[in-house]
Amino acid sequence: MKTHLAAKELKEYKEKLINLKEEVMAKIREISEDTLMKSQKDISGDMSGYGIHIADVASDNYERDFSLGLVSDERKVLLEIEEALKRIEAKDYGVCQLCEKVIAAVRLKSIPYVKYCKKCQEKMEKENKL
Ligand SMILES: [Zn+2]
Repeated sequence: MKTHLAAKELKEYKEKLINLKEEVMAKIREISEDTLMKSQKDISGDMSGYGIHIADVASDNYERDFSLGLVSDERKVLLEIEEALKRIEAKDYGVCQLCEKVIAAVRLKSIPYVKYCKKCQEKMEKENKL
């Protein structure tokens, strides 16, 4: 299924996706650095004692786990963006990957890396809940 979008529109979406990709990458860096700094602090704090006890360190790492969760969400988005960029190159961007119908422009504009049309997305969300 080939895209219905003109080369000019594809170029606009591509630029949008590249900007978004940079934003997400910056966010991942920010969260990772923050998490790394915190864990180094944890470890150096522990070093003053009898060494690193993994179980002790792990028990109060809720915050770090939370940050890592955020990173994995951002990574998922990053992956979606990269896939969308590939779809632009392959010229099948803007088409639902499930039913092959055109994805509404308003939807693409708000989420440029969106893979499915509204109907398919809702259907999948429902199925995931089961
Ligand atoms: Zn669809």
